[in-house]
Amino acid sequence: MKVYGITDIGRMRPINEDSYYLPQEGERFCAVADGMGGHNAGEVASAMAVDTFSRHMRDVQSITGQALREAVEFANEAVYEAALENEGMSGMGTTFSALAEEEDRAFIAHVGDSRVYLVRDNAIMQMTTDHTLVEEMVQKGMITPREARVHPRRNIITRALGTEPFVRVDIMQIDVRPGDAFFLCSDGMTNYVEEYEILQAALSGEDWPQKLRHLVSIALENGGADNITALFAVIEEAAT
Ligand code: CA
Repeated sequence: MKVYGITDIGRMRPINEDSYYLPQEGERFCAVADGMGGHNAGEVASAMAVDTFSRHMRDVQSITGQALREAVEFANEAVYEAALENEGMSGMGTTFSALAEEEDRAFIAHVGDSRVYLVRDNAIMQMTTDHTLVEEMVQKGMITPREARVHPRRNIITRALGTEPFVRVDIMQIDVRPGDAFFLCSDGMTNYVEEYEILQAALSGEDWPQKLRHLVSIALENGGADNITALFAVIEEAAT
């Protein structure tokens, strides 16, 4: 797969607490993390999660859902222990959404409220379920998805990486085909950009970096009160 990434501090925040990982030569995985915690701890948490995850994935012989889960669990331990050992980082945590490709399969690992979408056959589908209070309320039928988008408590997440000694990781496996485009992003994107706008950008004639710049510009125009991070991971024809 070929992966393109962008991050923007947004218009309100003094620092960017999002981190992301793009595959290096020969690698087939990427990740987005959105950190939280006082002072600069959110920034530390997301960077540490991405770093620990990618170091672990590099040593994996064949990518499986279990391998991905273990890499995220390692990242959880690293952030959790750093938070215990450093007073200023107490309670820090991060969302974590990762994608890895193995032959004609992709695996998603997910914790928190960053998201992974799949664009295929001119349609977009959200692959991850937000670990948020409002999403739980939607699932229980207490509020509609539309109400969730403007709910005053929409920022409360119910699962994060690094805040507990153990983390429950959602793992998904998808059969992929050339042309599939995965979109990974932090909530600074999805709170300000509609799904159809992501689809429109993906289908536009622009190159992938330009599609990402366009989506960031929409998020900024619509408020940009949060850090904005997004990746497009495009599945290519398998090398023979
Ligand atoms: Ca955020």
